[in-house]
Amino acid sequence: MLAHTKRYALVETARSLNRTGLNQGTSGNISLRVENGFYITPSALAYDQCRPADIVELDMEGRVVVGTRKPSSEWRLHRDIYAHRNQAGAVLHAHPPWCTTLACLELSIPSYHYMVAIGGGDSIACAPYALFGTAELSANVLAAMDNDRCACLLAHHGMVCFSADLQSVVALALEIENLARIYGQAMQTGEKVPLLTRREMDQVRKRFAAYRSIGGQGE
Ligand code: 13P
Ligand code: ZN
Repeated sequence: MLAHTKRYALVETARSLNRTGLNQGTSGNISLRVENGFYITPSALAYDQCRPADIVELDMEGRVVVGTRKPSSEWRLHRDIYAHRNQAGAVLHAHPPWCTTLACLELSIPSYHYMVAIGGGDSIACAPYALFGTAELSANVLAAMDNDRCACLLAHHGMVCFSADLQSVVALALEIENLARIYGQAMQTGEKVPLLTRREMDQVRKRFAAYRSIGGQGE
């Protein structure tokens, strides 16, 4: 993909976050890995005003390579995920309503539904609170996403996830927001929400791996 095409794809994807309800206003940010660094949305600019030229290219030290805007205040979080997780081709941080509701209660999404395994573990953990944009927030997020996990909630803040590319990272974020919503609704009934066992969740993860490797036909 050419540099302009990548910038354009990032802007289009960022705008789609408003349409899907994953984000609003200037909350959230999205990035795409490129050689020796990544492209990221600018700080404090509403996505509907964002143009391809507003996208900032950073190197892995967080230095601006190309761009006139200030990079997202969460550039360090994106950089640290790329630095520690080879599979990350795109990173999405958002404040989706249901993920953020659980995060404000410091709740993780437990194994109440088999699709929770899409986050790579038997729950989607809630990383402890740290100030936005800090190294402490990155450390908390990396710890909450250890053991091959690719998503977590951020206490009193929102959620973050990564995937191979822009299309799949948005699909993952939408699925996680849906899981957060259904968990929230289930809790609102006042009933105790029963959970799948670790063994059952391991089986789901194995089946997911087979599902992906043979083009979605299952075992
Ligand atoms: P930016 O506008 O700097 O990307 O920040 C939004 C945000 O969600 C901070 O956590
Ligand atoms: Zn945020």
